[in-house]
Amino acid sequence: MSASAVLPISSPASTEFASLSFEEKLDRFAEVAVRVGLNLRAGQELLISAPLEALPLVRRITEHAYKAGALLVTSFYGDDPSVLARYKYADDASFDHAAQWMADAMAAAFRSGAARLAIAGANPALLAKEDPAKISRANIAASKAGKPAMELITKHAINWSIVAAATPEWAKLVFPGEDVDVAVARLWDAIFLASRVTGGDPVAEWKRHGQSLKKRVDLLNEKRFYALRFKAKDGAGSVTTDLTVGLADDHLWAGGGGEAGNGVFCNPNIPTEECFTTPHKDRVDGFVRASKPLSHQGTLIENITCRFEGGRITSATATAGEDVLNRLISTDDGARRLGEVALVPHSSPISQSGVLFWNTLFDENAASHIALGQAYATCLIGGEKMSSDELTALGANSSLIHVDWMIGSGTMDVDGIAKNGTAEPLMRSGEWV
Ligand code: ZN
Ligand code: ZN
Repeated sequence: MSASAVLPISSPASTEFASLSFEEKLDRFAEVAVRVGLNLRAGQELLISAPLEALPLVRRITEHAYKAGALLVTSFYGDDPSVLARYKYADDASFDHAAQWMADAMAAAFRSGAARLAIAGANPALLAKEDPAKISRANIAASKAGKPAMELITKHAINWSIVAAATPEWAKLVFPGEDVDVAVARLWDAIFLASRVTGGDPVAEWKRHGQSLKKRVDLLNEKRFYALRFKAKDGAGSVTTDLTVGLADDHLWAGGGGEAGNGVFCNPNIPTEECFTTPHKDRVDGFVRASKPLSHQGTLIENITCRFEGGRITSATATAGEDVLNRLISTDDGARRLGEVALVPHSSPISQSGVLFWNTLFDENAASHIALGQAYATCLIGGEKMSSDELTALGANSSLIHVDWMIGSGTMDVDGIAKNGTAEPLMRSGEWV
């Protein structure tokens, strides 16, 4: 689907929510970020990173954080034009450099008990015209510098969350042809709706939503499948995806909120609609076509197809951004292997909204997906306490990257495969059986 073909959201927002002023809606969203996303505890520090345009939301979140007893809230801002200035004017050596001191400081803050909130909203196409080699080098440098902090996140050592803020450049991409003010307003509405804050009591709604995801997760955990098999066809009936994804030994399904290592129950992604687990890094075979474009670090990659053998991508193509894709999967050996597999029904509210967000936080919750790169240790039984070698022995992948891309659609069938090879239908035409 192209971004220009998006449908208007058929809004089930309550009339009560619709009657609120924008400031009041933003306040309700900020409260959900603090109380549901982070579940911030009294006495905790909070680190926020956000695009400059998200300042009004950051201020609301900061208020709610202090009301919840935050010890100190510290915010860092990103600015798209400043990022572009680097690509235009910086010395070549800049692209192998990252602010190590800041990554170290973040890791130190997490170790001393700080919570982390990221606000997404940068222009998904910011770097579309920049040199893919420079983008890749800058990403590798940033990933290397950020590894200690990132590991605390992937091991879920602390309570953390990601929410989104509508920004003008992002909104123009999602709603092309609209005046920028209209596009921003529509994107905010889509964010509020997808983030489940439009009902009368968002905190209670999140509790109910979490329980329904947990029920599905518990069922999948009981099954102990050896693999999943994904099959999809295009409009003409030819098979576009036939992929068998082996699951890691001792894999654990997760979904909705979870308890972090510091004992705090939080919701790391708002929105979230997925049930996900750890694939086996050496047992993925077949071919797969992406069902949505992927926005990756300021570039757009469209119509991805990949072939896997023994867990490894042996060929990858895309109709746009193929160079970026091939550099991405060449980041390290683990970048060619899967670190996550997730099931999302085609009837998810984000999918039904018809909006293509060009942002993984939303688009991954509109379709079943797989992720290249780093696995989540929390998706293995006892994984949080294991060494990297122990995780690898169970089949968990490791990499500097973790990039989700969407493969699910209304034509996708998914089977759970037992170790003896018997198949059990899990999804038919994109819906849970
Ligand atoms: Zn996911
Ligand atoms: Zn992921």
